[in-house]
Amino acid sequence: VDDLEKVDLEISNAINAELERQRNKLEFIASENIVSRAVMQAQGSVLTNKYAEGYPGKRYYGGCECVDVVEQLAIDRVKKLFGAEYANVQPHSGAQANMAVFFALLYPGDTVLGMNLTDGGHLTHGSPVNISGKYFNVIPYGVDKKTERIDYDALQELAQKHHPKMIVAGASAYARIIDFRRLSSIAKSVGAYLMVDMAHIAGLVAAGLHPNPIEYADVVTSTTHKTLRGPRGGIILCRDAEFGKKFNKAVFPGTQGGPLMHVIAAKAVAFKEALSDEFKEYQRQIIKNARALAEALTKEGFRIVSGGTDNHLMLVDLRNKNITGKDAEKLLDDVGITVNKNTIPFEPLSPFVTSGIRLGTPALTTRGFKEKDMEEAASIMAIVLNNPNDESKMAEAVKRVKTLCEKYPLY
Ligand code: PLP
Repeated sequence: VDDLEKVDLEISNAINAELERQRNKLEFIASENIVSRAVMQAQGSVLTNKYAEGYPGKRYYGGCECVDVVEQLAIDRVKKLFGAEYANVQPHSGAQANMAVFFALLYPGDTVLGMNLTDGGHLTHGSPVNISGKYFNVIPYGVDKKTERIDYDALQELAQKHHPKMIVAGASAYARIIDFRRLSSIAKSVGAYLMVDMAHIAGLVAAGLHPNPIEYADVVTSTTHKTLRGPRGGIILCRDAEFGKKFNKAVFPGTQGGPLMHVIAAKAVAFKEALSDEFKEYQRQIIKNARALAEALTKEGFRIVSGGTDNHLMLVDLRNKNITGKDAEKLLDDVGITVNKNTIPFEPLSPFVTSGIRLGTPALTTRGFKEKDMEEAASIMAIVLNNPNDESKMAEAVKRVKTLCEKYPLY
């Protein structure tokens, strides 16, 4: 009997049940991944006991000599990974990293251009329900109706009209390469800062499979737990070490207290893993798998928003199947396929219902899935979504999901 089971059987049972859920379902949530045991060991370590307000070598507490080593390694590795001159590894999450950047560069009421939530942007880029939308004057930009790709010309016009202090780029549900060079020239033309939130694509960027925003943006934020395959958390990076000092102050004492040293240790481990050739191969496979999935779904009669994907995710427009995103999410979950309902560009339904689902390949690629497995998964999804009331088809889907899960055991 391990300690947790003895101390708290309810939590222990819930954790074990979650492990079984992860083992026995197909994880298509685009923002999730499966970390290594090494990352988990670092996160579940004694470092959780330590207070370390401040930064390596300049702490407000004694006894920081060991955590200083940890944080400095995390900083050095992530700088190397992305070619940055400055890095802050303390943000507790992606949202915290973004809030610190807003706090460092803007005053309440300043104008910001951010991508629409319905077109793929993130809540923290100016949604009215988020602090970014409540405290700043946010002008949303989005995708072109026909191409369903970012409308850079319209964005340029908005920038010229509104003279934002900052343009925020990056997305949670956008399947195409983002043109950071173009965004940088738009920002420069109106004297705005360019902030890129590369949370979703950070792993692809690290592997050189997506343009690196560090070269074009004044500041780059990211989460560490999506394609990058680290613990849950955030980072802030930039080219200019001097400029970066603003963000140190904005994270601590600006918007956070003590850093989560156990999480920072896990970030350092993940960055080390991400510097390896194996990681680059993993990222290449993520993209191959996403393409295979998009093509297979298209053959099954599904419409992929913008006609395909350049990265790890895609949006499926379900309107021609007469099913909502909400119902599709539930039906797929019933057979062991985990996805999330998602708005599509120019969404006609409420965000609680939606016309689409978002699918991503990072987690299943970690499990070992290849293109053929993605084709099988697409075929199962088609059976489920084309035959929602057919119990024998559902039973067949359950069986085929089980076979796929057993082919690639987890942990
Ligand atoms: N930025 C983007 C682009 C995201 O997709 C997300 C999460 O989905 C975040 C930021 C927020 O990250 P967190 O959930 O760690 O606060």
